[in-house]
Amino acid sequence: MSRFKFFLLILISYSFGSYSQKKAPKLVIGIVVDQMRTDYIYRYWNRFGDGGFKRLVNDGFFCKNTHYNYVPTYTGPGHCSIYTGCTPSTHGIIANDWFMKETGATQYCVSDKQVKPIGTSSENGYMSPKNQLTTTLGDELKLFTNGRSKVFGVALKDRSSVLPVGHAGNAAFWFDEETGNFVSSDWYVKELPGWLNNFNAKKLPKQYLEQGWNTLYGIETYTNSIADDNKYEAAPNKKPKPVFPYDYKAQLTENKLGILKATPWGNTITKDLAIECLKNEQLGKNDVTDMLCISYSSTDYVGHAYGIRAVELEDVYLRLDKDIEELLKTLDTEVGKENYVLFLTADHGAADVAAYLKDQKIPAGYIKEKQFNKELKTFC
Ligand SMILES: [Zn+2]
Repeated sequence: MSRFKFFLLILISYSFGSYSQKKAPKLVIGIVVDQMRTDYIYRYWNRFGDGGFKRLVNDGFFCKNTHYNYVPTYTGPGHCSIYTGCTPSTHGIIANDWFMKETGATQYCVSDKQVKPIGTSSENGYMSPKNQLTTTLGDELKLFTNGRSKVFGVALKDRSSVLPVGHAGNAAFWFDEETGNFVSSDWYVKELPGWLNNFNAKKLPKQYLEQGWNTLYGIETYTNSIADDNKYEAAPNKKPKPVFPYDYKAQLTENKLGILKATPWGNTITKDLAIECLKNEQLGKNDVTDMLCISYSSTDYVGHAYGIRAVELEDVYLRLDKDIEELLKTLDTEVGKENYVLFLTADHGAADVAAYLKDQKIPAGYIKEKQFNKELKTFC
């Protein structure tokens, strides 16, 4: 699926007007919603509660036309650009994967064989920001306060946790689908903090997946989406049709916890982890500014699997709205309404399923890569 680069930026700051130069926020929270198109704010507006997306728009600043000028707008370059303030030609994260002329190998944006996985022995732990060539906001915060600021990142996707945190941050944590645990690498830590070991010990991925997935509200109310049963969606493994309700018994039996990523529970567990990190690392509790980078990845996995007009996607956003509400309430209590600045944006958008557009008689289609490659070579 090709992607567009629609960024939305919502900034919430209750006390922005009253900040003097001497009073910095105690905590900055960055939220990236993976693959969130700006139009979702409008499309789902009447379905959102008052305490999530609506609270951000109503009480904050809604920047509707804020974007960087580059391609390709993938997850790696998107997260890196948001947090470094520059574009791929400068920060070096030119794609999720790229070809290395020197070695003939493919390089994944945050892959690093020199580091040691922490909290897992799987391949998923060999990650670092070594290919990120510039500083992040968190790096600058660390430099500015001589290391006193605390900077953490949480996400299902490794690149969505590592690239926002950057080089000097305390830790980036990401989901290892082999173990179902959130892990890191020794770029950041020598061992997982005790609170994260306790969090992992709860086995939340299994608990969430055992609940299956049904719509939050009656399915007849999902009028912002096309019919649940349609030919443009991909049914998960072993399910004949891509329709509600979903159960994950087969995946649980085979210990395939990666399925969590394409469910709303992937966002919920990210929220759970963010709150644990906030409380246990005492973020926003002292006199220097701390930073917490949160990225919700499941919106992207669900968007890819079911398309941008699916009931599944609408449900993921309605549930994410609730997760954001809980996060904001926790921040109000733990840090105080007057003491934090929060922004919410997206790393990229998403295009319609081409087959759906074609069926609406709108010009669209697919590139046959092999054919394209052949024609290109013949042309040259
Ligand atoms: Zn993405």
